[in-house]
Amino acid sequence: MARRRKKRGGLLVVSGFSGVGKGTVIKKLMSEHPEYAFSVSATTRAPRPGEVDGKDYFFVAPETFDQWVEEERFLEYARFFNRSYGTLKDHVEELRNAGNTVILDIEVEGAMNVCRLCPDAVSVYIIPPDAKELVRRITGRGTETEEQITNRMIKAVREADIVDRYGYVVVNDDVDATAAEIHALAQGKGGARVPREEALKLTKAVQAELTEILKDRGNRDIIPV
Ligand code: 5GP
Repeated sequence: MARRRKKRGGLLVVSGFSGVGKGTVIKKLMSEHPEYAFSVSATTRAPRPGEVDGKDYFFVAPETFDQWVEEERFLEYARFFNRSYGTLKDHVEELRNAGNTVILDIEVEGAMNVCRLCPDAVSVYIIPPDAKELVRRITGRGTETEEQITNRMIKAVREADIVDRYGYVVVNDDVDATAAEIHALAQGKGGARVPREEALKLTKAVQAELTEILKDRGNRDIIPV
């Protein structure tokens, strides 16, 4: 008897300011809905305590990463903070062909490339209700140097300028509600809880707040572009 082919799964691109709780929301979404599968990226950065190779990332040497770039194994890749991160084409294809909706947890540059290459992708940017909690989370990880923390904050300030290119902007004020909201958006059922204009205004407010915090930390030359 011929086996019925599974319906090809969708693509859900999720980005968000560093420290916004993106990982927790994604975990929640996946625990509630088994049809999601996480795209495990390749990275040249070292594993953080508790991170597992092949589950959180494929941790690879810079030479391996460059070889994979040459072999065109990435759907997209980006280099920042002196590290490389990339989405593996075959890995995503395999998961989608098995019927999973694949979640890509990637930053803005990669997200925009994926949206260009895969017009059916649903893209979501997660923002915090305010900057204070964000800064607490960025600084509270305890695994990073002051310079790395500052870099993450600068990246967040810069990213804020392109948030409006995402299909949806969601405010993570509650993990459960945010996960449910993103699930509805991924299925094309329903809009975001906070109207887009309001979410974009909030993004600008968080950007301004972060800029002030960076100045207080001694980064007087940070001017959002
Ligand atoms: P972290 O080092 O904190 O795990 O990730 C840093 C940033 O890299 C996060 O914003 C994350 O979304 C992004 N990232 C992770 N994997 C990829 C990837 O494959 N491609 C791109 N463009 N960004 C990624």
